[in-house]
Amino acid sequence: MKRLWACLFAVCVLLAGCGGEAAEKQRRDFFAMDTYMTMTAYGPHAEEAMKEAEARIRELEEELSVTREESNIYRMNHRTNESVLLGADAAEAVGAALRIARETGGALDPTIYPVVEAWGFTKDQQQVPSEEALREALARTGWQRAHLTERTLTLEPGMEIDLGAVGKGFAGREAGKVLRDRGVTSAIVSLGGNIEAVGARPDGTPWRVGFRAPDGEGYAGMLSVEDAAVVTSGSYERYFTDENGRRWHHIIDPATGHPAENGLLSVTVVGRDGLSCDGLSTALFVMGKENAAAYWRAHHDFDMILIEEGRRVTVTEGLAERFALRGEYTKGPLEVLRR
Ligand code: AMP
Ligand code: MG
Repeated sequence: MKRLWACLFAVCVLLAGCGGEAAEKQRRDFFAMDTYMTMTAYGPHAEEAMKEAEARIRELEEELSVTREESNIYRMNHRTNESVLLGADAAEAVGAALRIARETGGALDPTIYPVVEAWGFTKDQQQVPSEEALREALARTGWQRAHLTERTLTLEPGMEIDLGAVGKGFAGREAGKVLRDRGVTSAIVSLGGNIEAVGARPDGTPWRVGFRAPDGEGYAGMLSVEDAAVVTSGSYERYFTDENGRRWHHIIDPATGHPAENGLLSVTVVGRDGLSCDGLSTALFVMGKENAAAYWRAHHDFDMILIEEGRRVTVTEGLAERFALRGEYTKGPLEVLRR
């Protein structure tokens, strides 16, 4: 079976135009949470602050990982009792994931891990599971059967937790918090293409984030942001191709156990809280365009960008003035969703 890991990040930060401040610019690159991360920060406290921000990301990685034996989530998934006392960070992530699960009718389901495992996405040994294996895995999922009371998480036998859908957004938010607390007013963190923007660029203009075209080379669009999280879920971020040449991606519809197929190629959520943005980007991807639009109309704390097959791009009205199509995509329509 052919394995293909997409290594293109959905979005990237454009730093051109900041040349005047080059002397103050500090950059830090590292690998964590299974992806490449880059921080760029300006000002006298930048270097020390980024070092602390990286340490905070590594701390979260250790608590939230499904594979590290010391992590809270590993302990939960290999428990001998039904309840486990989580650390504060793991409890916050699970709590946020369960809240979004409730609000999205289970489109996000932090108990989806047995299904993700059946598809082999956890071990890098992807395969199309048999219907029987999927049924068995699905029977061990269900966010309604996960109960969090303060920091105590209780699951039924056989159930397992996966925070892959919220971890990087959470880490971005926390890194942003460390940078701001250390007095940094201009920085940008990219966690495998998920962005946390601190303030604006040093010259006061917004950060510019480029959206890679999901179906090829170049950019589909460009977004200007300040003090925001920009988090993307895309079917092209992690997938494999089976022997018949069919592509299977990693975002699972918990209702079927199969990768979500609804014409969406990517969903980007822009908001203040990276943790919520990350959970939502995965949930809205599963829900499809119509349901995502209805959810956005009912909730007022985020904006989104949807890219569908056929180079169709939709943005919510809060981004209309800050988003522009690029390259081949300028030939297609840009729909603006209004409340
Ligand atoms: P993201 O890239 O944030 O959309 O997260 C995708 C990752 O979350 C996958 O690689 C799985 O580990 C996990 N996942 C896939 N589908 C779901 C789902 N419906 N709910 C929760 N987690 C999921
Ligand atoms: Mg997500």
